[in-house]
Amino acid sequence: MSAGDPRRSLPGVDRLLASDEGVALVDRFGAARATGALRAALDSVRLALADPAGGGRGVSGTTPGVAPGAAEIVALAAARLRAADRRGLRPVLNATGVVLHTNLGRAPIAEEAAEAMTRAARGYSNLEFDLDRGGRGSRYDHCVEEIRALTGAEDGLVVNNCAAGLLLAMQALAADAVAVVSRGELVEIGGGFRIPEVLESAGTRLREVGTTNRTRASDYAAAVDDGGVAVVLKVHRSNFRVTGFTEEAELGELAPVAGDAGALLVHDLGSGLLVPAERLGLPPEPGPSDSIEAGADLVIFSGDKLLGGPQAGIVAGRADVVAAMRSAPMCRALRVDKVTLAGLRATLRLLLDVDRALEHVPALAALAESVDSVRSRARALADACPPELGAEVIDVEGRVGGGTFPDTPVPSAAVRLTPPDVDGFARALRLSDPAVVGRVEGGALLLDLRTVPPGEAAALLDAVRAVEAGTFSADRRFP
Ligand SMILES: *Cc1c(COP(=O)(O)O)cnc(C)c1O
Repeated sequence: MSAGDPRRSLPGVDRLLASDEGVALVDRFGAARATGALRAALDSVRLALADPAGGGRGVSGTTPGVAPGAAEIVALAAARLRAADRRGLRPVLNATGVVLHTNLGRAPIAEEAAEAMTRAARGYSNLEFDLDRGGRGSRYDHCVEEIRALTGAEDGLVVNNCAAGLLLAMQALAADAVAVVSRGELVEIGGGFRIPEVLESAGTRLREVGTTNRTRASDYAAAVDDGGVAVVLKVHRSNFRVTGFTEEAELGELAPVAGDAGALLVHDLGSGLLVPAERLGLPPEPGPSDSIEAGADLVIFSGDKLLGGPQAGIVAGRADVVAAMRSAPMCRALRVDKVTLAGLRATLRLLLDVDRALEHVPALAALAESVDSVRSRARALADACPPELGAEVIDVEGRVGGGTFPDTPVPSAAVRLTPPDVDGFARALRLSDPAVVGRVEGGALLLDLRTVPPGEAAALLDAVRAVEAGTFSADRRFP
């Protein structure tokens, strides 16, 4: 290093820590993280100074070829730490109008469920302990009563998610055997979860029947007659529609076909809607109890779609069939944890009373809210927005989401904002704390209020005001 090298004038970590800015950094992020970030900031500054030409690559916020001062280096370290803090799982205000937004964590859970989950997480519990007898119990007992009451099935089992439920069903009931599936139902559910591949990984041989648009009960009957069939699998078309010249065999027609051949009728339903669809303003949609009533031996559905609970897969059906799944080795690998069980049970208990569920289960409450009510909440938000944003209320169409009701719009209302830089504004809102995610459409930012619970509207307004004033919280956290 030559005498005139700007690197010589860089302060050391100790001096940085002792500066006013350094003390504030330690206050905010703790000594260990602050020190680490200062070292990293110094390294990047040294690197940039060693190669002043650097292909134009300096350190942003510093002047190329000039040693930055202590305050600048601390600011670099603070920026690093803030960025690191933003990378974890962060709360989001969902203003997209998509109620079950898979990328935003699907169903927000009820307060009662959150409390039950916190209690289960904080301490010990009788997860696998029978308090009455003082001996070993089963984790699988905890939601059974509620699943039976809500589905009419003899027994129930909870696993990690619906996909796990289907995989376990095939492994336990049809490994080295044949499952009959309609060609119209060999679908991809999402994220590469494809029915033929699930069957393959469970060691189940697939026998396809019918065609993409039409499959009749007689097609299944012919396939079952060829022998070796352990399962007749029906997959609910939850995330797409087949329209036009179509025909599909009903579960009720398939029950005798499967029964006569000694095969099990399994229904992969997906969304577990446990309240009447019309109470949510939605078109008719079968629920798990419809599957059981129609004669399915097993129905499998998600905990975090229209059920409105935590991520889980619920299997309900005939006692001997559920017992076979419970004792299958794979069950252990797909098992549900105590926190989920606690939250799911609390949610299922709310669902035992439809009126209570519509009030307390957030996803259901969001869908049940009248469009007039959403519109008046949007009006109140628009009126409170800074005038520079040109806020107005418009009618929009939201979605149920989560791969359900693919072509059913959910009438809603949004606040339409037109800041000069819409994309920059939307990004700043996403980087707020809590983050706000809306929709940019036609040069405007739309904030759909249906998916923002009334209790969170104030936080949404705070974020909008802060971004408009240029003081959004990602930067406000640290001077
Ligand atoms: C959503 C869905 C699944 C997968 O559910 P997860 O809980 O996400 O695993 C499986 N089958 C159907 C029909 C679905 O709609």
